[in-house]
Amino acid sequence: MTIAQQAGSASAQKNPVRTRAVIIGTGFSGLGMAIALQKRGFGADDFVILEKADEIGGTWRDNTYPGCACDIPSHMYSFSFEPKPDWTHMWSLQPEILDYLKGVTAKYGLRRYVHFNSHVDRAHWDDAEMRWHVFTEDGREYIAQFLISGAGALHIPLTPEIEGRDEFAGASFHSAQWDHSVDIAGKRVAVIGTGASAIQLVPEIVKDVAELQVYQRTPAWVMPRPNNAVPAWVRRLFTNVPGTRAAMRVGIYWMHEVVGFGMTKQPGLLRVGALLGKWNIRRAVKDKALRRKLTPNYRAGCKRILNSDTYYRGIADPKTQVITEAITRMTQRGIVTGDGVEHQVDVVVFATGFHVTDSYSYVDIKGPRGEDLVDRWNRTGVEAHRGVAVADMPNLFFLLGPNTGLGHNSVVFMIESQIRYVAQAIAAVDKARAQAVAPTRSAQAEFNDGLQGDLAKTVWSTGGCRSWYMDSHGVNRVLWGGMTWQYWLATRRFKADEYEFSGR
Ligand code: NAP
Repeated sequence: MTIAQQAGSASAQKNPVRTRAVIIGTGFSGLGMAIALQKRGFGADDFVILEKADEIGGTWRDNTYPGCACDIPSHMYSFSFEPKPDWTHMWSLQPEILDYLKGVTAKYGLRRYVHFNSHVDRAHWDDAEMRWHVFTEDGREYIAQFLISGAGALHIPLTPEIEGRDEFAGASFHSAQWDHSVDIAGKRVAVIGTGASAIQLVPEIVKDVAELQVYQRTPAWVMPRPNNAVPAWVRRLFTNVPGTRAAMRVGIYWMHEVVGFGMTKQPGLLRVGALLGKWNIRRAVKDKALRRKLTPNYRAGCKRILNSDTYYRGIADPKTQVITEAITRMTQRGIVTGDGVEHQVDVVVFATGFHVTDSYSYVDIKGPRGEDLVDRWNRTGVEAHRGVAVADMPNLFFLLGPNTGLGHNSVVFMIESQIRYVAQAIAAVDKARAQAVAPTRSAQAEFNDGLQGDLAKTVWSTGGCRSWYMDSHGVNRVLWGGMTWQYWLATRRFKADEYEFSGR
């Protein structure tokens, strides 16, 4: 019986599916990991990918809000081993990125490994068997030697608890759960939040709505970014002239690393960003009072630097009103702010971001002797060895795990470093004729001490802002503290002496 048939019968008969590895998620991480396992010789029955939705794509499937695009150039925000010379835009729109992922899925025949509508909600390690037992919400069970989460940290929408939210009579939804059945044309629309998602959707929807209210708690630094279609001759050049596309990728990489140098080593250099950001405001917004409202009072880079040539034009549109008074409650008719004004609206869009440092608790994970990983992380803070593996949690790997997010370059680069590392860890287990591997507590502590030391000097710690990079104790649990090539170096070789093998 093939594994897909087993899964079918598992749901019918509750028989567990046995396999070597379970991957969670079909975004860049999960798909990249699947390809790496294929390359290691894992066959059709050797791994499964559990996907909560009914289609592949992760972030790029879920986020369909108007204007959704990537803020890292596509020639860099794509797999190095699957280049696409004919990206239509430098910073591609969501449909093209999703198509790219579907193309990669088809090329490597990955759909046969994917079990759709399989939302993983818990996993426990069986000490005697040395296997993970992984359960989906609907009660299916998978038994596997390796458990690899490709869920990342930006997948659980955060909708703030605002008093009276349920009383609102109009439509309301999160930017990552855009309700396409709601026609916003000619409506009064409120957008709460001015982060990466909001600045992309505001200039798109302002064209259609009757009135747009933008609720800004903290202004973002938004840099100029022309994003016209890539001319056909350039796409032909990248397709036909060897080396041109690769040269473009290398150029993009190092330009972003220069910004990373400012963020991680020399925050003073980011003053240049502030000048550019102020110019971006000035060229679109004539009203001085509005300009002041839009100008951040913290160092550029402390919160994610955003890019748009159209955001401030959308803000300057006569239909748009920027509201900086704090939201106190919602009513049947709209939003009430601290000054007591009730702003009436028909539709509310929550562009309010995601559960980040608390997102790792989305799966209830119990390791050896029943140790609860979420409990441990609640006590110690979310941390992992090299951002991937966790001490005393055998054969458990996180892609885009703790402290491997970026503020300046492509996370696909980080993912590729991690999938190579995980593939090496699996190879090391096989080579040692062991059953399991986990980093030692001392290796993990040493790695994280160094990392937190580096992070203390970065703009994220010194820039004078409050961001979701920090956990409730003010410790950065989200971002890598250096340049991305340093992460590549840190994960290039799996070092067996940092790990304990068991079951030999
Ligand atoms: P975000 O950057 O976390 O922005 C959330 C916004 O909502 C912020 O302006 C925040 O204000 C505001 N907010 C949150 N709670 C609020 C409340 N109770 N009242 C008023 N305002 C509130 O979220 P996002 O825009 O969805 O982006 C999240 C991340 O997703 C990005 O940083 C990026 O990594 C990724 N992303 C990437 C792209 C891309 O192009 N690659 C596009 C979209 C998103 P404060 O700043 O005051 O907290």
